[in-house]
Amino acid sequence: MSSPSRFELPALGANPSTEAQGTNPGSFARRPAVGGALAFSSPDTPGMPAHSNRTAWDFLPEGWVRDAETGHASAPEGFEPVTQLESARLGIVTPEMTRVAEREGHLTPEQVRDEVAAGRMVIPANRVHLGYQLDPMAIGRASKTKINANMGASPISSDTDEEVEKLEWALRWGADTIMDLSTGGDLDKTRDAIVRHSTAPVGTVPIYSMIIGRQIEDLTLEMILDQLEHQAQQGVDYFTIHAGVLREHLPHVNKRLIGIVSRGGSLLAKWMIHHRKQNPMYEHWDAICEVARRSDVTFSIGDGLRPGGLADASDRAQLAELQTLGELTEKAWRHGCQVMIEGPGHVPFDQIEFNMKLERQLCHGAPFYVLGPLVTDIFPGYDHITSSIGATAAAYHGASMLCYVTPKEHLGLPKKDDVKQGCIAYKIAAHAADVALGIPGARDRDDELTKARAALNWEKHFELSFDPDTARAYHDEDLDVDTDFCAMCGHDWCSVRISKEITTFLSGKDEEYAWEKPKLSEALTSEQRGILEQRGVLSPAEIHRLASKTREQVGADAGKAACHSDGTAADDARRIQDEVPEVPVQEA
Ligand code: SF4
Repeated sequence: MSSPSRFELPALGANPSTEAQGTNPGSFARRPAVGGALAFSSPDTPGMPAHSNRTAWDFLPEGWVRDAETGHASAPEGFEPVTQLESARLGIVTPEMTRVAEREGHLTPEQVRDEVAAGRMVIPANRVHLGYQLDPMAIGRASKTKINANMGASPISSDTDEEVEKLEWALRWGADTIMDLSTGGDLDKTRDAIVRHSTAPVGTVPIYSMIIGRQIEDLTLEMILDQLEHQAQQGVDYFTIHAGVLREHLPHVNKRLIGIVSRGGSLLAKWMIHHRKQNPMYEHWDAICEVARRSDVTFSIGDGLRPGGLADASDRAQLAELQTLGELTEKAWRHGCQVMIEGPGHVPFDQIEFNMKLERQLCHGAPFYVLGPLVTDIFPGYDHITSSIGATAAAYHGASMLCYVTPKEHLGLPKKDDVKQGCIAYKIAAHAADVALGIPGARDRDDELTKARAALNWEKHFELSFDPDTARAYHDEDLDVDTDFCAMCGHDWCSVRISKEITTFLSGKDEEYAWEKPKLSEALTSEQRGILEQRGVLSPAEIHRLASKTREQVGADAGKAACHSDGTAADDARRIQDEVPEVPVQEA
């Protein structure tokens, strides 16, 4: 007899597994509420800012009226929608919204339209880029969490071809958007090449191009608008503009340990101090919105005062700027522009939820796009890890897109392998949050892999891995033969093998997951050898020696390893199962 439970489960959200497989009761997040401010959201820790009760609907352009019955708006006579936001407000489902719904799986095209209309979702899709090979995607809390990969030539290193190669590499490893942050080489050529090659939306920080060949002090409104128009015509899908750094915010950075770490923020601060004037991007925000609207360039309103270290996180400068970003959001919505907001940076783990929820309040649910954040500063060389820990918490508490950080962060320009490491760290963060938030189907592949693992079906295990080559190489480094255990515990201590012998788990014996017949690994391919060599631990000769040493030991030369236990006697298994006491199952 088992004793009664002394615990209770919290209120459950949705089960992230389509078929609710396994024994896990489901997500502990709030119940999904697509169509409202809390689409997929974490329960609030006491003291967290409440969500805003306003949306983009509260900031319609002049002359627009919302029909209470249909919920859609009507525009002044003769108006032609250009942006996704304008179409959504008018009740139009665009082809891009339909494509987003196809890619998301758990949303209908109408739900995508309604989220865009509320300003809680953006579809960064410049009309020029749509004419190349852009595959529309969405960023918002009702959709899956997205990741961005930065690239771009610097004055010290890299060229256009290398940047295009990095772009393809980032897309290969799951980047949902790309930011071209070039500050060196031929910026125009690199940007054009990236936009033409990218199937993902491309973002830029246009101020970088505005100051090439001149001092920041010489920047004029005409130069700002010309460069924005030029990049909009090139097909850039979203602009980072640091319009929220105001003169009155600058005194708050005096006591910071590391001042202003945003390039755009520091340049504009210098301009303001030199001219004793307000930030020109703020002063001329209406004109900037008009340029963006004409090509449907989405704003990613920059956080020029983001903290550059834990000691400066959540300070007055950062939060005062965030409040200004809310004002800029309202104005941009009135122009019909799509908006997301950029966020920090470096934030202690305990402050992440507050930062995410304050943005949701001040910016009325506009998607939050955060860099990391790093949760500690003392691991240069490993900042893809320190920041992906913060990124997971950020996405769970409300961020919609995570800007990756590579191992080269703070140290140098990322190379191809750094791009891969950064993308993978961030795919992990985004996926972990989606599972925790109960996004429908988010856990399906995890469940499939668990079943393959339970069946000790290595082939399927590798196939379902995000990076099959690395998984296979690590496995084959020690045991490149088919065994139903691996080198970590060995035959006698392999709990998965023992479990498989004592009971007929659906997973372990499911026909779909069982081995058809024993297989020999093909041993290490040159790509796998490369992966292992890169670890810098073993020489190629050592890897070879290790990779084949086990064949003889486990008697695998004739095919199946002698110790393979697929042939467990059915009678034995049944006898053991009969002896397993029935455990009462409690309904959640
Ligand atoms: S040997 Fe250990 S690590 Fe390897 S499959 Fe078995 S239980 Fe898992």
